[in-house]
Amino acid sequence: MFRQLQRRAVRRRPFPDAWLATLRSQVAAYMQLGAAQQAELQKRILVFIKEKTFEGCLGLEVSDTMRVVIAAQACLLELGRRPHYYPDGVSIFIYPSAFVSTLTETLPGGMVARREVVRIGEAWRRGSVVLAWDATLQQSCGLLPGHSVYAHNAYAHNVTLHEFAHKLDGEDGSVDGVPDLGGLDGLGPNRQAAHATWAQVMSRAYRELVRQVQAGELSALDPYGATNPAEFFAVATETFFASPLTLKHTEPDLYKVLSGFYGQDPANWPAPERRR
Ligand SMILES: [Zn+2]
Repeated sequence: MFRQLQRRAVRRRPFPDAWLATLRSQVAAYMQLGAAQQAELQKRILVFIKEKTFEGCLGLEVSDTMRVVIAAQACLLELGRRPHYYPDGVSIFIYPSAFVSTLTETLPGGMVARREVVRIGEAWRRGSVVLAWDATLQQSCGLLPGHSVYAHNAYAHNVTLHEFAHKLDGEDGSVDGVPDLGGLDGLGPNRQAAHATWAQVMSRAYRELVRQVQAGELSALDPYGATNPAEFFAVATETFFASPLTLKHTEPDLYKVLSGFYGQDPANWPAPERRR
């Protein structure tokens, strides 16, 4: 109750001019929203930045630009839904660039192996999200593949949306590609119907991506989504927001289900460039 009152007060605060300039120049998605959506996103950004901790790694000094760019995209995912503000994600760690992460794996026979991987983003099961700032900013600005140092293929990438999609997925207790689907009008009249529709469409699309990857065929979604259902949900989310027209055209059922879940229709955002 106290938290709700506190959030209501924060939402009423004026949105700083410098932050608005950041949204307009560094967050491509913001410029594609209608005026009412932009106003609501600003209020949610105020709450998100008030409640979350941002920490720079390897000597990186966290700026307001970083806070606003990351908050805008995290809040964009929830913009068509009642916001939860990622209740278990309280800290965002920001590296200047790609970082090395140590993975621990238990091999058959019980041996534990450690290996190092280079990453631009990570979502921890409890708590934190880790992001590489250069990739985060480039993708927020909507740089096309070929103009970004991290674009290793022709797919639309957005590491911030990807990692926060994992956080949404985990809100029901497990990161398994099935987020909490309760009360979604867009997916069916009740929870059971929503689950059935989700399971049918998502599993068909996932199986098709796995088949395409194994057959070496060109796919609408980044092949990384074939890793497992959780990565499929995160990759599909990136494509839904970063390349909505392509997804709607190539995977209409998947687009419809994601549109129902997110309560948004980015293929029809009222931005002038999308009307052409
Ligand atoms: Zn992932």
